[in-house]
Amino acid sequence: MSVIGVDVGGTKIAAGRRGPDLVATEPIVIPTPYGGMAIIEAIAALVAEIAAASPDPVRAVGVGLPATIDAVTGRVAHSVHTGMDDFDAAGALEAAVGLPVFLDNDANLAALAEHRLGAGRHHANVVLLTLGTGIGGGLIIDGEVFRGGRGHGAELGHISVDGNGPPCQGGCPNRGCIETMCSGTALGREFRAFAEANPATALGQLHAEGALDSRSGLALAREGDPDALAIVTTAGEWLGVAVTSLANTFDPDVILIGGGLSDAGELLLGPARDIYLQRALPPTRRAPLEVAALGPDAGMVGAALMAHEGVGG
Ligand SMILES: [Zn+2]
Repeated sequence: MSVIGVDVGGTKIAAGRRGPDLVATEPIVIPTPYGGMAIIEAIAALVAEIAAASPDPVRAVGVGLPATIDAVTGRVAHSVHTGMDDFDAAGALEAAVGLPVFLDNDANLAALAEHRLGAGRHHANVVLLTLGTGIGGGLIIDGEVFRGGRGHGAELGHISVDGNGPPCQGGCPNRGCIETMCSGTALGREFRAFAEANPATALGQLHAEGALDSRSGLALAREGDPDALAIVTTAGEWLGVAVTSLANTFDPDVILIGGGLSDAGELLLGPARDIYLQRALPPTRRAPLEVAALGPDAGMVGAALMAHEGVGG
């Protein structure tokens, strides 16, 4: 028996099958259409295609969405990335797919995957932050995903580190959340603000060419440009402030940084670790702060694992 894991991102949907031994097959990747029903129909088509090619029956489907999902009703209240708004995602999926469907937040699934198969293996308590356009979060407590009372946890990207900081993005009314201090969006904003004020710098030149974003700014930092490096360092330090609070709160065994921005590696993690090791309560400084192991596939792997475990493994 096989299961299918589907990861819905802001720009693409990845779906792959895992056989009885949980060995993965090559995933299919398509662009994410906009809107709840369009996404559900795309998922159903992917599942049908993969199931038709499967050498054994598919038992269940796991789906990760970049959204908070009510565990009781299966509804997505609001998701900027997908255009879902008070949308019965669980019901629509069950109806369209015709197989048992398990649904969760994408970062929760990335945490599940890292715990079962990645950098969180052999650890009972894992904190994961996924850094990309936004910041997602996942918590493993005593070996299980912690989702809170209604499944809306753990939105660690909305931990505020500066109560008077910049307004948060998406549907978040808070200020100074780490999503607005050290996400890819935040880095892009800081690079551009610096470039506009300092047109004679390398960042300024890149901006004048219309080529400045979080990626190209990070590349400059990697080459040692002091201005880009200072901006990345500041973002890393804000990350470290949040990591300090997470360590103090959960006393985790390991703290993992995943998502597309994690390939900045020590440029971000170095300053974050410096702050964490200076500021966390001494007994909670024990957790290593590391890059997650499963890369961009973590959400899809976690979705397949959730389906596998959901039907009794
Ligand atoms: Zn926020």
